Amino acid sequence: MDFKNYIGGAWHETTEAVNNINPSDISDIVGVAAKAGAGDLDQAISAAHHAAPAWGKSTPQQRFDVLDFIGSEILARKEELGRLLSREEGKTLPEGIGEAARAGQIFKFFAGETLRQTGDRLASVRPGVDVDVTRFPVGVIGLITPWNFPIAIPAWKIAPALAYGNAVVLKPAELVPGCAWAIAEIISRSGLPAGVFNLVMGRGSEIGPKMIEDPRVTAISFTGSVPTGRGIAAACGANLKKVQLEMGGKNPMVVLDDADLDVAVDACLNGAFFSTGQRCTASSRLIVTEGIHDKFVGALAEAAANLKVGNALEAGVQMGPVVDEKQLAQDLEYVSIAAKEGGKVLGGERLSLASDGFYMSPALISETTNNMRINREEVFGPVASVIRVRDYDEALSVANDTEFGLSSGICTQSLKHASHFKANAQAGMVMVNLPTAGVDYHVPFGGTKGSSFGSREQGAYAAEFYTSVKTAYTLP
Ligand code: NAD
Repeated sequence: MDFKNYIGGAWHETTEAVNNINPSDISDIVGVAAKAGAGDLDQAISAAHHAAPAWGKSTPQQRFDVLDFIGSEILARKEELGRLLSREEGKTLPEGIGEAARAGQIFKFFAGETLRQTGDRLASVRPGVDVDVTRFPVGVIGLITPWNFPIAIPAWKIAPALAYGNAVVLKPAELVPGCAWAIAEIISRSGLPAGVFNLVMGRGSEIGPKMIEDPRVTAISFTGSVPTGRGIAAACGANLKKVQLEMGGKNPMVVLDDADLDVAVDACLNGAFFSTGQRCTASSRLIVTEGIHDKFVGALAEAAANLKVGNALEAGVQMGPVVDEKQLAQDLEYVSIAAKEGGKVLGGERLSLASDGFYMSPALISETTNNMRINREEVFGPVASVIRVRDYDEALSVANDTEFGLSSGICTQSLKHASHFKANAQAGMVMVNLPTAGVDYHVPFGGTKGSSFGSREQGAYAAEFYTSVKTAYTLP
C-alpha cells in the first residue's frame, strides 16, 4: 500500500484499498491508497483527543518550529509535489507546482501567526476590576476536504488548526490520497507530537457522518459541494458542533462596454477554463453588455478553441483532463442541457487523445438567459455561458440573481462602476479586471449566501474558527 493512514504517530494499512488513477492516462496507477473504516476513524479521533490538551499548551515557539518546517519542506519540494498533484488530479504541471508552492506559503504564514496571537485587557465598568479576553484552542477539529485543490485546501485548514493549538483528523477526498499522504509524511518528520495530526482516508459518506457525530470532535471545517455541506451543517447543529462550510459557486463575471477587450478575454479565459474549470471560484456566468458582446464572444471563442488540451504533465498543455469519468459525464450532460435550452454551444466535446484520459474541449455557450439551468446550477467543469444584458444596472442585477455568493468580477475602465460593483456585488470576494479565481493567502477567503457558512478561512481571520474566546474578570 503506497498511501497509508497516519494515526497516533504511526502508519496504518487497511484491509480495503483503492487505486489512485491518473485522469490524464488511466493506465497509470499513481498509487494504492488505504480505505479506512469506522475502527480506523475511532483510533484517529482517540489519538487526537489524547494529544490535544498538551498541544493546546505548547509554546508559540514549538508551534512556529513545526509549521515553519512543514512550509519550508513543501516549498523546497514544490516541483515534485506539484507533479504528484498534477498526476492524480489533472491540473497542468505549472498549476500543480503553483498550488504546492501556495501550500508551503500558507504554512509559513501561519508559522508567523503563532507569534502574533493576541488578547485584550480592558478596564471593567465596575471599579477596580480588570477584564481579560483571551483565545484558546477549540480541541479536536475534523477537516473534510474536496479533490480540486488537493494540497492547498488541506494546508489552509491544517496550518491554522495547528497554529492555534488544536489537534486534527483530516479526511481528504477519495480521488486525491497522494497529496494528503505527502503532507502527512512531511508532518510526521516535523517534530509535531504523535496524535496531534491524523490522516484517515476513506469514503466520505461512510466515515464522514461518524466523524461529525463523535462527541470528541469539537468542530468541523468542510469544503465541498452544497448538498454534502448542507447535510454536515444539519448534523453539526444537532450535535452542537462548531462548523465552517465552503461550498459551490456560480460566479458571475461582468464585462462592460468600456472594458479593455484583451483584459476581459484573458480574465474570462483564465477564470472559466484554467484548472479545467474545476474551481469553486470559476467564472461560469459571463454577463456582457450589448455594445461589446459580439466582439467579446468572438475573441473569447477563438482563445478557448486555441487552448491546448492534453496530458497534464506534458509541456505546453494549457488545460488538463477532467478529474474522472463521473465528472466528465456531468460536464457533457450540462452542455447538452444548455443546447436543449437554446444556448449556442462552441466546443464542449469529449476528446480522444494519445493518452487515454477524461478529456473535453472547453465549452463556451452563448445566447443564454439567467433562468436556464446552465446558469443556476454549478457544473464544475470547463463550461462557461454568456448572458447578454443592456447596461451596468441589468448586469449587476443578473450577477446577484443566484443562490451562490462566492466570487464576483467586473471588467471595466469606469471607476464609478467598479466602485459601485465592489459595494453591491453579493459575494464574499470581488474582482475588478481580474479573474474571479485566484486569490492571495494572507487575506480572508469565503462567500455569502449558499456558498459559505460560518466564519472565514485564511489570513488572520482564520482565528475566529480555530479558537474560542474566554472573558476573565479579576478583582486584584
Ligand atoms: P463533495 O461534497 O462530494 O466531497 C467533499 C468531501 O466531503 C470529500 O472528502 C468527501 O469524501 C466528503 N463527504 C462526502 N459525503 C460526506 C458525508 N455524508 N459526510 C461527510 N463528508 C462527506 O465535493 P467534491 O466533489 O470533492 O468537491 C467539489 C465541490 O467542492 C464543488 O461543489 C466545489 O464548488 C466545492 N469547492 C468549494 C470550495 C470553496 O472554498 N468554496 C473550494 C473547492 C471546492
